[in-house]
Amino acid sequence: MHKPCRKCSCEFEVTDADQIFYKKISVPEPTFCPQCRMMRRMRFRNEHSLYRRKCDLCKKDIIAAYKPDAVHPVYCTDCWWSDKWDATDFGMDVKVDEPFFPQMKALMDRVPRLSLAVVTSRATNCDFCNYVDFAKNCYLCYGSVQVEDCMYGNPYESKDCVDCFLVRESELAYECVDCEKMYNCDFCQSCDGCTDCVSCYECQGCNDCIGCTGLKRQQYCIANKKYSKEEYEVKRDGLKLATVEGLARANDYLGKEKLTFPHRSSRILKSEDCTGNFIVNSKNSHCCFDVKKLWDCSYCAQVIDGKDSYDVNYCEYFELCYEHIGFDENYNVKFSLISGNCKDCDYTDFCMNCNDCFGCVSLKKQKNCIFNKKYSEEEYRELTGRLREAMIERGEYGEYFPEEISPFKYEESVANDYFPKD
Ligand SMILES: [Zn+2]
Ligand SMILES: [Zn+2]
Repeated sequence: MHKPCRKCSCEFEVTDADQIFYKKISVPEPTFCPQCRMMRRMRFRNEHSLYRRKCDLCKKDIIAAYKPDAVHPVYCTDCWWSDKWDATDFGMDVKVDEPFFPQMKALMDRVPRLSLAVVTSRATNCDFCNYVDFAKNCYLCYGSVQVEDCMYGNPYESKDCVDCFLVRESELAYECVDCEKMYNCDFCQSCDGCTDCVSCYECQGCNDCIGCTGLKRQQYCIANKKYSKEEYEVKRDGLKLATVEGLARANDYLGKEKLTFPHRSSRILKSEDCTGNFIVNSKNSHCCFDVKKLWDCSYCAQVIDGKDSYDVNYCEYFELCYEHIGFDENYNVKFSLISGNCKDCDYTDFCMNCNDCFGCVSLKKQKNCIFNKKYSEEEYRELTGRLREAMIERGEYGEYFPEEISPFKYEESVANDYFPKD
């Protein structure tokens, strides 16, 4: 079935498989097209617009993703994760018959937010990083997990990488983009399993290559021409790649030359029945980009290890999730922003280890809460049942948080990185 997007008016398709998924997780069909849905989620993620300000609890000077004049309190990572405060103290009564999102915004404006999306105990010496996890000695990295001694960009499961974007399982990589399993490589793009390569494009399993395109398991090649080890070393030294001019020459050559070679229409590796680009080890997943280990997922980007989920970004280990952005280990979490280890939650914003919560902000280890207020299990079921019904009637349930209630300006959010306004 095709329908017009409520935001951009373009026609988008809701396939039979999509309809089955929406039924399975009991949500109405989307009214925004996949791209407008992604843009709306991305409005709620600010990776790299960082500010100096004070922690509103311990008063220390900190770096935060929120301006000093933000309406809501901001706590440093040590304070936020501590037991020195309780987010249920900020609980509000829900008014079932009144619009949901203005009430959600009122709650978002009063509950303290975490300065940077970092788990203190899992990030050492990473004061200027945001959205990093299991990280050590990193600087200005955003969206990086299991990284050590990295600077600038978003390396993933990597070590000693600088200026890398969408690079995974690599070491000593510099200025690489969309690469995997690289070792000591510079200026490479869309390559995997390469060692000691410079300025290569779409190469696989190559060693000691410079300015090559589309090679597989080759060694000692320059501009796709094979040499003996000795010839290669003489030629390589002559290129003076350690100088600015030499590197500029090699990159300029690659820039022109790569356009003359045939390219793969998309990079889908070890996967079955998938559409999108940069997909690895996945099955029956559609319209997905930069993903790995997905089963039965659609409209996802930059995620790893997901099952039966739609519209998820920047997450690991998730199942039955929908319209969800940020953080790991979630089951049946919908319309959520940075929630971790959560189960059966709707409209949660930065909640950790929670079950059965609806419309909550900054909660840790809670259950049966609505707007940060605790209820008995029966009360919770009855109230959320009525709330969901009223929201469906008002056309609210099924939609992600409206972009006007984002704590970030458009220019601060990653929406601006991918969909710049100017
Ligand atoms: Zn649209
Ligand atoms: Zn503090």
